[in-house]
Amino acid sequence: MCWQPCFADRRPGTDFCPQCWMLLAAHPADRVRAGVASRRDVPVDVLEYLTDDLSAPVAFNARDLLDQITDRENRRHANDRSGSES
Ligand SMILES: [Zn+2]
Repeated sequence: MCWQPCFADRRPGTDFCPQCWMLLAAHPADRVRAGVASRRDVPVDVLEYLTDDLSAPVAFNARDLLDQITDRENRRHANDRSGSES
């Protein structure tokens, strides 16, 4: 289950359902969006949405975290390929 008045199913591996993630990402308070952008369980699509945030620190946080996630993905793919390259 998601949080208090929301009874939707959470996104797998995260604390909120897809709708609440988007509501949090569009929250009027910078503080809340900054919190979302620095969560380790934030879904990539929500993070991508936050990279265009009007608040520079929020957008910066989101880009930074997105870079880390993309880096991790790239490394995993590089490892997949390492067998065929010599
Ligand atoms: Zn929810």
